[in-house]
Amino acid sequence: MAKNKKELLSVIVPCYNEEEALPLFYEETVKVLNTLEDVDYEIIFVDDGSKDKTIDKMMNLSREDKNVKYFSFSRNFGKESAMYAGLYNADGDYVVIMDADLQHPPVMIAEMLNAVKYGEYDVAAARRVTRDGDNKITTFFARTFYKIINSISEVEMMDGAGDFRLMRRNVVDAILSMSEYYRFSKGIFSWVGYKTYWIEYENVDRVAGTTSWSFMGLLKYAIDGIMNFSLAPLNMCTIMGVILMISSFVYLLFIVVKYAIYGDPVAGWPTLMCVILILGGIVLLNLGIIGQYVGKTYMESKGRPHYIISKTNDKDAKKVK
Ligand code: UDP
Ligand code: MG
Repeated sequence: MAKNKKELLSVIVPCYNEEEALPLFYEETVKVLNTLEDVDYEIIFVDDGSKDKTIDKMMNLSREDKNVKYFSFSRNFGKESAMYAGLYNADGDYVVIMDADLQHPPVMIAEMLNAVKYGEYDVAAARRVTRDGDNKITTFFARTFYKIINSISEVEMMDGAGDFRLMRRNVVDAILSMSEYYRFSKGIFSWVGYKTYWIEYENVDRVAGTTSWSFMGLLKYAIDGIMNFSLAPLNMCTIMGVILMISSFVYLLFIVVKYAIYGDPVAGWPTLMCVILILGGIVLLNLGIIGQYVGKTYMESKGRPHYIISKTNDKDAKKVK
């Protein structure tokens, strides 16, 4: 590295309908970034096909501040794709991912950078210790989700850990090497490993706008997460099959013995119905689970891009990836 050249910190901000929050976010964050003396910064706004004036706000900011880059998607691809695009187009030696709604306190960047730049850590990640502000039902399902995924998947996921984290370049490259179409970042972060410094913080409410997550959206995301990092549901199908086979065999023996002792008075229609219905249900359930994996494999095999950028001020942008 040339003498006096400072290292670069990239701040990636996925934005979907954040016209109100964006200026506030920029103001707060730049205040913190300017206090970091030993790094230069760039802010990467990724407009995930917003329907409001988010892109105009980004363009204004980029005119005022040369360190601001924006990338605007051709449609809404989802936060995962927005983060992926940000990571692909970040040049920083350190990269931090943050939400635009100030739920991720910018002041924490300083501590994160310290841990990674001067400490022995490769990643500094934030972890919410309270879910105050969050809906009770969502909280319950979130807790259950973490219990399930941690018991059946190969990765350890921390309850409360979000996408707010600062990473060294080598970690970013490792994450980019995982190019799966169905992305579940919490799992990907944990899968790549590296020494992580955890910082706890209290939940903060959004400064403006509303969350774009619906309950169904979260549920689908959770199922994706389980399927992406675990084959346990498939194993469950096999186990169910084995249990059924053994019980059928035992039942068969029982029928044969009963026939030998008592003869064959034609009865047992209800039993037969129950067995048929239960078996039919289980077979369909297992087919469904297998179908889900086959479907994902089909989508992955198409190798479609994760995002398409329609507008940007970065001439080296990787517009489709
Ligand atoms: N976001 C995005 N694309 C989407 C939905 C959300 O880029 O399709 C961004 C959003 O602008 C915000 C971050 O992802 O910066 C987190 O979203 P949100 O605040 O709605 O989620 P929550 O904090 O409620 O989990
Ligand atoms: Mg939020």
